[in-house]
Amino acid sequence: MLIRGKHAVTGQVVDIRVNDANGAIADVAPLDPARAPDFGSGDLFVAPGLFDIHINGFAGVDFQNPALVAADLAHATREQLRHGTTQYLVTIVSEAHDRMAACFRAVSRAREEQPELAHAIPGFHLEGPYISAEDGPRGGHYRDVLRPPSWEEFQRFQDAAGGRIKLVTVAPELPGMTRFIEQAVASGVVIGLGHSGANAQQIADAVAAGATVATHLGNGSHAVLPRHANYIQVQLAEDRLMAAFIADGHHLPPYVVKNFIRAKGVARSILVTDAVPPAGMPPGIYRYGRVEVEAKPDGLICLPGTPYLFGAATTLERCVANAVAWAGISLTDAIRMATENPARLLGLAPRVLEKGSSADLILFALEDSRIRVTDTVVRGQHFSSTP
Ligand SMILES: [Zn+2]
Repeated sequence: MLIRGKHAVTGQVVDIRVNDANGAIADVAPLDPARAPDFGSGDLFVAPGLFDIHINGFAGVDFQNPALVAADLAHATREQLRHGTTQYLVTIVSEAHDRMAACFRAVSRAREEQPELAHAIPGFHLEGPYISAEDGPRGGHYRDVLRPPSWEEFQRFQDAAGGRIKLVTVAPELPGMTRFIEQAVASGVVIGLGHSGANAQQIADAVAAGATVATHLGNGSHAVLPRHANYIQVQLAEDRLMAAFIADGHHLPPYVVKNFIRAKGVARSILVTDAVPPAGMPPGIYRYGRVEVEAKPDGLICLPGTPYLFGAATTLERCVANAVAWAGISLTDAIRMATENPARLLGLAPRVLEKGSSADLILFALEDSRIRVTDTVVRGQHFSSTP
């Protein structure tokens, strides 16, 4: 397979030859006008597939479902391919233990049944239940299931997940959290800070214990904070923390996206969707967890009849385009924040278009500050974004 596109990092038009036998990139070379590509053209950009480390559901499929089957997960995965996301961490949020464990098992079973799911889902993001029960910081997590950290319980989650929980979001101020973070990090798990009202010392202690990322910074927080001494400022200033941002214009207004990205710098910024099942679906009322939510035409998801956000309906390629438009950064840098940076956070293989790397890539046009993905290739298999 030969793919042609303008390399989103170098800006040069390249021909990418894919080894159809193993799905790896065989060669990246300057455009050869004598050859016709199978997909792409010099007018389209080519970039590594996007990687979303925070997603709860998509295209009507709720990942937090003990009865989830491989076909549902495959549908949500294929629909994300149309938007350029080739890999993602299934995010499981706070619930009673047995229900959460059943959700981990359901996804793990689906991964075993379908190799394409095993590739698309390198692991899980456990968000909660060891987070703040205070209104504001707890966001949409159910208060009655929030609890202090338990290493013993976490190990049972890890067993249910086949050892694939890669990222855990916790609130540093909970009793016993420093020890929990140390144990988790020693076991190879990445710790994110979020849904927390921690003070500067508690954040410093968590970072010293090994926390390395701020989860959806600026969300899962109080509506009103002291202007200087607050956990958003502290986490922005902490250079040992990367930070993930929901750059959808609802969770963070454009000027906050700009400020946050400038404060963290490109190398420490990660773009995520935090998408919920109505994402990728038409506007309407949807069941999500214990509640009904309303997906509005502008991409806002609320509790019906209220202004309260209840998850995101955005897609990652939109967040990339928003970061370019709002933060004044290059397309290259924005792509990096949805490919290379999340992979580096998790210690996964770098996402690059190079000989020998897996042919996970996207072709797209940049039109009116929006990214329109036209084609996605996963391990050498082609998917068109046109239905
Ligand atoms: Zn959250």
